[in-house]
Amino acid sequence: MIERRKTRQIEVGWVKVGGDAPIAVQSMTSTKTHDIQATLEQIRRLYKEGCEIIRVAVPHEEDLEVLPEIVKNSPMPVIADIHFAPSYAFRSMEKGVHGIRINPGNIGKEEVVREIVEEAKRKKVAIRIGVNSGSLEKDLLEKYGFPCGEALFESAIRWAEKFEKWGFYNFKVSIKGSNVLENIKANELFAKYTDIPLHIGITEAGMGTKGIVKSSVGIGILLYKGIGDTIRVSLTDDPVVEVQTAYAILQSLELRRRGLEIISCPTCGRIEVDLPKVVKEVEEKLKNIDKPLRVAIMGCVVNAIGEAKEADLGLACGRGFAWLFKEGKPIKKVKEKEMAQALMEEVLKYDGKGKV
Ligand code: SF4
Repeated sequence: MIERRKTRQIEVGWVKVGGDAPIAVQSMTSTKTHDIQATLEQIRRLYKEGCEIIRVAVPHEEDLEVLPEIVKNSPMPVIADIHFAPSYAFRSMEKGVHGIRINPGNIGKEEVVREIVEEAKRKKVAIRIGVNSGSLEKDLLEKYGFPCGEALFESAIRWAEKFEKWGFYNFKVSIKGSNVLENIKANELFAKYTDIPLHIGITEAGMGTKGIVKSSVGIGILLYKGIGDTIRVSLTDDPVVEVQTAYAILQSLELRRRGLEIISCPTCGRIEVDLPKVVKEVEEKLKNIDKPLRVAIMGCVVNAIGEAKEADLGLACGRGFAWLFKEGKPIKKVKEKEMAQALMEEVLKYDGKGKV
């Protein structure tokens, strides 16, 4: 088991972050926030996928105006993402958001940041201090030459200590760079230095496989070191994929689970069925089933016997058929086109404790 770093706990609306709370999964809408219908529809899809905190961009007046409607109808706490415009931070809080994300470096004078903090304190709004390699303070860029891990850390701790000096503690910090190694270094330095909760992620990771791998490596290494109280996978994709990837990362490190764990073989020349099709069908049929079960789908009997012992239920395929097994023992022979349905029925009936 991974031993998580001991952090203090904060509250973003009704979601606790840090301390002994599970690592929270976040995402950000990609719609125009002022398009209420599209934004709420995306928020609901993300919530269904397991997202727990949602951030929305507030770049214009029209986005500010719809915040009360979004907050009222969102099933999860809403964070307003504010850049360059301190007045938007105050007005978002006025409109009822549960949190704001600011990069103090681009907000302006320190007194203005302090006023925002004082208002958050009064309104019991959480703040995320977002430090980003793309918007590092000038003096740190001059000191270090480029947005290295040390520079990112120094920027983050500089603001975190000010927040504490001003008597505000309901905040978390994110230090994000698109360079995985600098990102890890900055978060490690921060984690060693303080117990402030960390939101982790790799910013602008990209799209498709590359984006998922880059995020998984960066986030996964930090999580393995016990660092990270909430995560966001940033992808150039439907944000639903971000949430699915976040859970896949957490599940592979046994930090959280959601739904069934499906194990399937990579296939090889021994295969006698269309395994990818079977796996897709099983995933589709079982996607809304939230039982702590491990299900194995194996292309042939070679590894099926061993995997069957590790799984609660599974399929070991032959030519056009499969053995359905339960707790390591074959219980039924099923035809290829009935495999997914037979497995689903067995999952629904399963009354054991489950191995996940
Ligand atoms: S389980 Fe069978 S089909 Fe699948 S990769 Fe292993 S040997 Fe090949």
